[in-house]
Amino acid sequence: MPYISGNTMIQQAWKNGYSIGAFSAHNAETIRAILLAAQQEQAPIMIQVGQKVISVMGLQPMKAMIDAFMHDITVPVCIHLDHSRNFKQTMQAVQAGFQSVMFDGSHLSFDENVRITRAVADVAHALDIGVEGEIGKIGGTEDDISVDEKDALITSCDEALQFSELTTVDYLAVSIGTAHGLYKQEPQLALDRLREIREVVKKPIVLHGGSGVPDDQIREAIARGVAKINVDTELRQAFTQGVSEVLNRDPEEFVLAVSLGHGRDMMQAKVAEKIRLFGSQGKAAQF
Ligand code: 13P
Repeated sequence: MPYISGNTMIQQAWKNGYSIGAFSAHNAETIRAILLAAQQEQAPIMIQVGQKVISVMGLQPMKAMIDAFMHDITVPVCIHLDHSRNFKQTMQAVQAGFQSVMFDGSHLSFDENVRITRAVADVAHALDIGVEGEIGKIGGTEDDISVDEKDALITSCDEALQFSELTTVDYLAVSIGTAHGLYKQEPQLALDRLREIREVVKKPIVLHGGSGVPDDQIREAIARGVAKINVDTELRQAFTQGVSEVLNRDPEEFVLAVSLGHGRDMMQAKVAEKIRLFGSQGKAAQF
């Protein structure tokens, strides 16, 4: 099975000026959609397992399900644990065979965030597992937040550098104006700050909240050091739209393979579109 360490994958993308798409999976059909899109585009990809799906399906069963769908996949794949706020859970992912883990201590004090992220990194690195940490706060859709408050959420270069050095993370999630979920207004990424952070940190940067960010800003962010882009909401929209189309056409279509299958096809197309935008199409051959 072509699993590959998150660190190897992200370093390769970073050095070659493209980004790995880190796509969130929620069930069997969405796992299949992500893997088929990667295979179709001959792209290295990350498949992310997040906190909501873990609470419903469990971490081990998600890993086992991804393994089951790898039988005909030849491109490099990395399974990533997204937004863990729990040291124990990161260790469960390490033990289960994930190739990349994120500890999200952005809600903690700086020192506490450093302490736990470093502890995760010490174990993960001994096993060649990639580690992501987060510094700064990446919100949900920040509709209630004023512009001044939004500015205050932007990660500073000093904290990014200190955090990166103290924790030894391989790739760093920063807050530069994106948010998880749907945007009510077009986001404006803090691209100057991104360039400054890259210059001091000298490590690949991770962009969360990749859904709904205009293509030109995505391309510019990649040019300024982003090498992992997380996408979830737009994929769930594509999947749900596919299922809805079938049921709207025939409310009595109870064959789930038909509705879920169309959802899978729509999501596969969306993942493929993102892979091309991120420049990772055809890059499987680099590994
Ligand atoms: P979106 O749902 O906004 O694409 O964000 C996904 C994400 O960042 C997961 O960590």
